[in-house]
Amino acid sequence: MSTPAPLTVLYTYKAKMCVPHSVIMTIPSTTFHIHTSLLFDPKKKAFVKNVSIEVNPGMGEIVSVTERPGESFSAKDGDIDLTGKVVLPGLVDSHTHIFLHSYEERNGTQQMRDQSAVERIVRATNHARAALLAGYTTYRDLGTEALGNADANLRDCVNRGLTPGPRLLVATDALASSGSYELRVENKLGGNGLGLSVPRASDVADGVDGVRAAVRRRVGEGADLIKFYSDYRRKTMRFPPDVPGPGGRVLFPPKRRNPAVPLYSKEEMEAIVKEAQLAEIPVAAHAGETKAALWAADAGVTTIEHIFEDTAELEQPLFQKMVEKKTIWIPTLATAEALPADMFRECKLRVKRAYDHGVRLAAGGDTGTFSHGLNAREVEIMIQCGVSVEDSLEAATISGWEACGGDLSGFRFGWFEKGNRADIIALETDPRKDEKALRNVSFVMKDGRVWKRDGVAADMISVPQWPEDDGNTSEEWSDLEAGSPPKMSMSVPLPVCRGQKRAS
Ligand SMILES: [Zn+2]
Repeated sequence: MSTPAPLTVLYTYKAKMCVPHSVIMTIPSTTFHIHTSLLFDPKKKAFVKNVSIEVNPGMGEIVSVTERPGESFSAKDGDIDLTGKVVLPGLVDSHTHIFLHSYEERNGTQQMRDQSAVERIVRATNHARAALLAGYTTYRDLGTEALGNADANLRDCVNRGLTPGPRLLVATDALASSGSYELRVENKLGGNGLGLSVPRASDVADGVDGVRAAVRRRVGEGADLIKFYSDYRRKTMRFPPDVPGPGGRVLFPPKRRNPAVPLYSKEEMEAIVKEAQLAEIPVAAHAGETKAALWAADAGVTTIEHIFEDTAELEQPLFQKMVEKKTIWIPTLATAEALPADMFRECKLRVKRAYDHGVRLAAGGDTGTFSHGLNAREVEIMIQCGVSVEDSLEAATISGWEACGGDLSGFRFGWFEKGNRADIIALETDPRKDEKALRNVSFVMKDGRVWKRDGVAADMISVPQWPEDDGNTSEEWSDLEAGSPPKMSMSVPLPVCRGQKRAS
């Protein structure tokens, strides 16, 4: 077992390297203010005038929030003027898949089965940039879709300042029972037995002991939260999908050709929740329909994802249970938009009924099934459903933080308060007047660092800077030509940050 390096050594090392976050973390810095004229306060669920926010960039957090008596303010060097814009906390997308790109480009099976890990990781780094520039400073990422725990690795890369992106809170693999959420191979002669190998799409776990072990595996692999499939359309091979050509279509399929059926018993769901509680992380339950959703809510999950149908006529008992258990619903309307029109309409009506019933909503689009960067579509549809602008914005901020487990996430974000992460964005127009306001994010700050200013990306690429004195002088070169050995300097110069002198 290796001995951890002493902290002082680590700090010396970090001070030499061009890793912005690490440098910032170790160098005390002064604070600056962001001055606003109109700001959305998710705690008050109201738009407030003339607020100034003090930020400590070294800690990446808010130091103070002050309501000014009037419009005027005295700005000092380094302050940021966001007056004339509409300022919000950085947005939270509560249901994303950072490794997926739009299903219109390639469907999920093709992405999981055919794309290289490298391609998917490169795409994910691009997705992370696009999301950040769209004002999304936190992603609750619900499964890599056949890429194991690569989301935890990507999270760590973002947290270490290696690549820009939202704060990632990740599920790694989702839990599913045998024969359910996986790439289907039954129609191959001999099924899985003749050497056909496909990537694993979920962590398969059965039984009370089995699911407890799976939760432990997820925690060990770096999960910030647990996702499990409470139901799924697992009978797809009973009446297989149509394929082109003669004989490719089942002539008389039943009306409910591939219903979402429960994957876990109530006891198994309870075991998942109890084991996650031991690990102090939240639980998300995928539910296509109300039956399994009701069991999941009763088991005490933090959130329920989707609910596209109510074939069991359990909507009212479900809403009742969710209010009682304080379960958050993430209806993923933006992905439901791809469903048949009548089904999508019913999804929207269900959201309004839930809202009227007092069910807590969080905004998460299942982003990745459509393009990262267009995340705000979820909030737009939520408003179209009849949810007030203020409640919809709250669903994309504080409610998102709660969906991430609240304080269990290790951070506070989604509203403006001393000690919260300094995640601050600005819109050009007022979302109460412009239904597309969230599409025009002109300023983005995450953890006290600016990533977008005046509508333009800032500092997205980190380039090493030549040191002011690299030790190679023309004198030394002439010595070399004259045949005498050059004076030895400290050999390879380290890259240094702009304005920072190389340590000797
Ligand atoms: Zn999803």
